[in-house]
Amino acid sequence: MTTKFKTKFTIIKGDITEQDSQAIVNAANSSLMGGGGVDGAIHRKGGPQILAECKEIVNKQGQCVPGEAVITSGGKLKAAYVIHTVGPIWRGGNSGEAEVLRNAYYNCLQLARLRNIKSLAFPSISTGAYKYPWELAAQIALETIIANIKKPHFTEVKLVLFNEDIYKVYVDTYKKISRE
Ligand code: ADP
Repeated sequence: MTTKFKTKFTIIKGDITEQDSQAIVNAANSSLMGGGGVDGAIHRKGGPQILAECKEIVNKQGQCVPGEAVITSGGKLKAAYVIHTVGPIWRGGNSGEAEVLRNAYYNCLQLARLRNIKSLAFPSISTGAYKYPWELAAQIALETIIANIKKPHFTEVKLVLFNEDIYKVYVDTYKKISRE
C-alpha cells in the first residue's frame, strides 16, 4: 500500500457546518425533516435545497431507518454533500444501540465510497438529544472509522466535536484505543 492512499484522520473541536470536507454527516432523525442540534444547524446554514431533497428521498423510499444513510447536496454549505444518517436513541444499552450506532458510521463511510467522496466530516452521532453515553459512543465511532479507513480511499476523515467536554472524551478514548 503506498502512502499516497493514506487517510488523514483527525479529531477536532468545531462546528460541522463550517467544514470544507467534500461531505459532512448529519445526525438526523428518521423523518429527515430537520430537527434540533446538528440537524437544525445544517438545514439553517445549508438552506431549503437540502430539505427539498430529503423530502424527495422520503417520498421515494420512505423514512430513514436508524443505522442507515442517505445523501443530498450540501445546498449553501461549503461541503458539496450532506450524508444524513440516523443514530440510535439510548434506551439503556440492551436494545441493539451499539450495533445501530456502528451501522450509522459504517453506512456513511460506505455511501461516501460509493459516491467517490474523498473527504468526510462526522459529528458525534447520538450524543445529543439521543442521549448515548459519550465514552461508549466515542469508542464505537473511533473503532468503526479506524477499521474502515484501513482500506484505502479517503484523503481525510474528521470527527468534529462541538465543545471542549466531548472533544476531551474523544481524544482520551482515542488514546486508550491506540494503546490497546
Ligand atoms: P442526536 O439526535 O443524534 O443525539 P444531536 O444533534 O442532538 O444529535 O447531537 C449530536 C452531537 O452533535 C452532540 O454531541 C452535540 O453537542 C453536537 N452538535 C450540535 N451542534 C453541532 C454542530 N453545529 N457541529 C458539530 N456538532 C454539533
